[in-house]
Amino acid sequence: MDKIPVGILGATGMVGQQYIALLANHPWFEVRYVAASPRSAGKVYRAAVGGRWNATRGDLGGSDSPAAASLIVEDANDVSKAIAAAKRGDCAFVFSALDMGKDEIKALEESYAAAGIPVVSNASANRWTSDVPMLIAEVNPDHADIIPAQKKNRNWDKGFIAVKPNCSIQSYMTPLWALLRAGYRVERIIVNTLQAVSGAGYPGVPSLDIVDNIVPYIEGEEEKTELEPMKILGTVQGNRITNAASPRISAHCNRVPVVDGHTACISLEFGGEKPSIDEIKRIWTSFKALPQELDLPMAPLRPIIIREEQDRPQPRKDREVDKGMAVSVGRIRPCNVFDIRFVAVSHNTVRGAAGGGILNAELLKAKGYLG
Ligand code: NAP
Repeated sequence: MDKIPVGILGATGMVGQQYIALLANHPWFEVRYVAASPRSAGKVYRAAVGGRWNATRGDLGGSDSPAAASLIVEDANDVSKAIAAAKRGDCAFVFSALDMGKDEIKALEESYAAAGIPVVSNASANRWTSDVPMLIAEVNPDHADIIPAQKKNRNWDKGFIAVKPNCSIQSYMTPLWALLRAGYRVERIIVNTLQAVSGAGYPGVPSLDIVDNIVPYIEGEEEKTELEPMKILGTVQGNRITNAASPRISAHCNRVPVVDGHTACISLEFGGEKPSIDEIKRIWTSFKALPQELDLPMAPLRPIIIREEQDRPQPRKDREVDKGMAVSVGRIRPCNVFDIRFVAVSHNTVRGAAGGGILNAELLKAKGYLG
């Protein structure tokens, strides 16, 4: 199979670098177009990133340097450059990992889609657009089927926008969904997140604010953590996605001195029948969401990994499991106030960002929307 040529907007940032690293040997996609701010435009990718390279896979100087390191960075604000790349056969769709004003990103992503270039985005700008699917491939793959209605709503021919949710919810959405899919009702959740510094991009949180410290506030993060699950658990109705009404979620989001890997401590209350701890472990261990015949390269073999040790999961030890794409869950025990409590870890710039975006693109290709 010929690889599909893809572009990355925001290619020089924390998430963009993970795209470059994760796509270096991807069997379906090949990075042939990179764009970032006007500061980086015109430079060779390797030079534009320089000492900012933070992806844990690959290197920019060594022998395993990704081929995309030699591309010239374009200005992501100049859609005509991407249109020209598309005409040359170098950009069939783009991953968006831009960090700039929300309104600017929304308008820019829409310009790419209007120009016939599909956008698979990590940014929050289009998450609440009612005809834009917010996908976790294992949880709501059917939401992709709103894409024809989205194109019709906007009069777009080939382009569309699909997004992924915030990295803070990634660690507990799959376990939550597995319980819902098994037929249990979840009424209320209290979640306390311990989020890595790489979640703030580069250079992110100043070192003097985070070394030897915890910052109990991340702008906008608690709202995203409480509300985005409602859209993901919602249903496609006609030309829009209608949000679910439950569960009610209350979130505390904290920045902690961990480089990669978000941890979440969760207490959860069921409505109606309550599964035993053994039944919950059985549901999570056997959870295989995507139809296996899709054979998506980035999909984890087992989306939920249970750790039985009393001191796991931990971000440093568990974030890389299954290409950084699985969620590790442990300390599953009864809760004195709600019904159960547990701890979950996921890699924020892989599963929660670039890896999740790649998996979404694979899903969209398998469903016939890309390529
Ligand atoms: P980042 O490290 O700050 O990178 C931002 C990228 O956007 C860089 O490539 C930067 O280019 C580019 N950019 C900045 N201003 C621009 C402008 N005016 N015009 C065009 N490009 C511009 O941020 P990040 O952490 O990678 O995050 C990228 C996106 O993913 C954000 O929307 C973020 O909310 C989302 N996200 C991040 C994470 C995470 O764990 N970090 C997880 C999920 C989602 P230059 O290098 O040229 O400045």
